[in-house]
Amino acid sequence: MGSTYDFECTYCGYTVSASGEDDAGFLVYTWSRICRKCVVVVDVLAGPTVPSALTDDERKRMERNAGRCPHCRGRDDLVPWGAPHPCPRCGVPMCRSGGGIMWD
Ligand SMILES: [Zn+2]
Ligand SMILES: [Zn+2]
Repeated sequence: MGSTYDFECTYCGYTVSASGEDDAGFLVYTWSRICRKCVVVVDVLAGPTVPSALTDDERKRMERNAGRCPHCRGRDDLVPWGAPHPCPRCGVPMCRSGGGIMWD
């Protein structure tokens, strides 16, 4: 079951909805990463949880997108984003500001 939380930087006001950890939904794994190029937190598609449940087309599309920033499509500027969840802009630990949203 994947879930998403609202995080807020109380220093600069940056907010993001992200799982905040490596996560697995019904169909895909996601990783929480900071993209240093975009200076944002992103949930990066890591791969399918059950490859056999996908059609060939779906699997190919997923392989093309896996491990890439959804904004710039780069894969070299991603760094793991775990506790204490530093703000990508200023490095201050971000607070969870909202409840969890189940995404599948
Ligand atoms: Zn900040
Ligand atoms: Zn990026």
